[in-house]
Amino acid sequence: MTGRWVRWLLSLARPPGRGDGPARLTILRHHRVYADGERPLYRLGVAESVLDRQLALLAEVGLAPVTVGEGLAHLASGRGGHCVALTFDDGYRDNVTRALPLLVRRGARATFYLTAGLIERREAPWWDVLAHALTSTRLTRLDGLLWAGPTGLDGETARRLALVRWLPAFRLPPRERVARLDALRSALGVTGTTPCELATWDEAAAVPRAGMEVGAHTMTHPHLSLLDPAGQHDEIAGSITLIRTRLGIACHGFAYPGGDHDRTTLRVVRDLGLTHAVTTHAGDNRPGADPHALRRRGFSEGACLDPAGRFSRRLALAEVDGAFDRMRRRRPEVAA
Ligand SMILES: [Zn+2]
Repeated sequence: MTGRWVRWLLSLARPPGRGDGPARLTILRHHRVYADGERPLYRLGVAESVLDRQLALLAEVGLAPVTVGEGLAHLASGRGGHCVALTFDDGYRDNVTRALPLLVRRGARATFYLTAGLIERREAPWWDVLAHALTSTRLTRLDGLLWAGPTGLDGETARRLALVRWLPAFRLPPRERVARLDALRSALGVTGTTPCELATWDEAAAVPRAGMEVGAHTMTHPHLSLLDPAGQHDEIAGSITLIRTRLGIACHGFAYPGGDHDRTTLRVVRDLGLTHAVTTHAGDNRPGADPHALRRRGFSEGACLDPAGRFSRRLALAEVDGAFDRMRRRRPEVAA
C-alpha cells in the first residue's frame, strides 16, 4: 500500500483539529513552488495551485499562516488557541515569483530562510547539481562508481529512482561532497555549470518589502553536524552578515539545513543571538518549547492529494493537525 493510501485511510479515522484549546504553534515547511504541470526530476515542493488551495483552506478554518516570529509571540502571549506559521527554505526564485503574490493575495505571511552564500555566488545547491547531471547525461547505464552501484538510467523513471537512491550518499563534509559530485558528473559525461534557480538579491529583496520575515539558512547548505565548531560558526554567522549587507535587515531566525544539527550548532545559534531556529522534526510547539529546536512539519503535495490526485481538504487538515507525523519520523532528510 502506498503512503498516499495510508494517509487517506488514517485521515478517515481522524476528525479535523479544532482551532481552540491550549496554545500551540504548528510550523509548516515548504521549499519550491512549481508552475502547474512542471515535472522536474527532483520535485522539492508544491504546484502553485496546490499552495493556493492550502492557503485558502487555512484562511477558511481561521488558521491563516503567520511568520515564525509572530507564531512564537502567540505562544508567549498566554492566549490559547492554534496558530500556524509557514516557512520556505533555501531561497528559490519561485518563492518570490509564485509564493509571494499568493501569500499577499490571501493575506498570509511566512518566513523565508535564505542560503546566502549560494545566492551570492549564483551557485546551485548540491541536490540541483545531482538532478541536473542525471537529467543531462546521455548514458543509459552507469557502472564503475563503487558508492553508486550499477544503475540503469534509461528513461525518466529510472533516473528518478537513481536520484532517490543516491541522495543519502551525499551526506558528506563539503569537500568530499564536491569531490563526489565532480566524479559523478565526469562519469556521466556531463560538463558545464548547473543553472542556479535561487533568487538573486534583487529578487529576494521583495520578501521583506512585502512584510515577510527573512531568516538565515547558512552560506553553502552543508550538513552542519559534519563540520567542526569554527566551520559551523562561519556558515551560520556568515549567512546572517551577508543577508544584513545585501538586504539591510537583521535576521532573528535560522533553519538548520536538512534539519541537521548537533549540540555545537545549538550553542552557535544561541551565542549569535538568534531568537529562533527550526528543525525538520515533525510536531507541534507548545509554550515553553526550546526556541532553537522548534518542530516543523512538511506540507507537501503528497500530504494534500487523495489517491486520485485531487486536493483533499480532509487530508490537508489532518496533516496540519499532525496525523501523519509518525510516518515521517522514520525518514530523515538528506537534501534541502
Ligand atoms: Zn535547505
